[in-house]
Amino acid sequence: MKPAVPHLCAVALDKAYRKGQLRIPVLRGVDISAQEGEFISIVGQSGSGKSTLLHLMGLLDGPDVGEVRLKGDRIDNLPSGGRDRIRNQVFGFVFQSYHLLPELSLVENVLTPLLIRHSMFSYWKHRAEFREQATEIIERVGLAHRLRHRPSELSGGELQRAAIARALVADPEVLLADEPTGNLDAHTGSEIMDLLCSLNEDEGLTIIMVTHDEKIANLSQRIVRLTEGRIQELEEAA
Ligand code: ADP
Ligand code: MG
Repeated sequence: MKPAVPHLCAVALDKAYRKGQLRIPVLRGVDISAQEGEFISIVGQSGSGKSTLLHLMGLLDGPDVGEVRLKGDRIDNLPSGGRDRIRNQVFGFVFQSYHLLPELSLVENVLTPLLIRHSMFSYWKHRAEFREQATEIIERVGLAHRLRHRPSELSGGELQRAAIARALVADPEVLLADEPTGNLDAHTGSEIMDLLCSLNEDEGLTIIMVTHDEKIANLSQRIVRLTEGRIQELEEAA
């Protein structure tokens, strides 16, 4: 049987940063692929290039060499409009430090991707429907009682739930999460992992998460290790 076309994959990615005259290689031929509905963790020490790799896979940055493919089609070389569209419609992003807007309430923060996706006119026309969509996803992440709260009024775990709701409101196919539990205590971190696992299992969301925390990685389906710019080992999570 032919293996299924991966949902999202990176092929032979190289990426270096420049510091003055110095070229600092970070990724040196990274291959990684996620099947539809998989939950993969990328582990590696701080500075190993995990964020760099996730940014390349999510089209937040471009590789020097190599390709990123979505369902078999190359996407990293699309014109910027095409990359913007994929970033907005296919990917949801979650970061360690939440990146919520402090002046907006929880529900307004969650609505921001829909504002970005639609014209002002279309957003205004559909605003009741969008609000309902945002409220539903906020309920799904367990924050129904916090709709009108500002980020400063939320705990760390609640902030990350809010950021996950914002990542999901536009119904992405792939969630890219960069150290989503990095600012949380172990207990709250494992609650966030429970949420991510249930989104993966119940809704079939493909998730690629990077973390330096092996205990957290063990809660996903598959672990890949990034060392010295390459994917070096593959382990089945317990
Ligand atoms: P990780 O997420 O695994 O901690 P990063 O991908 O953030 O690693 O960084 C990998 C290496 O690349 C580090 O040495 C970091 O200092 C360097 N680096 C990351 N981003 C930049 C940048 N924009 N400019 C220059 N160097 C960078
Ligand atoms: Mg990082």
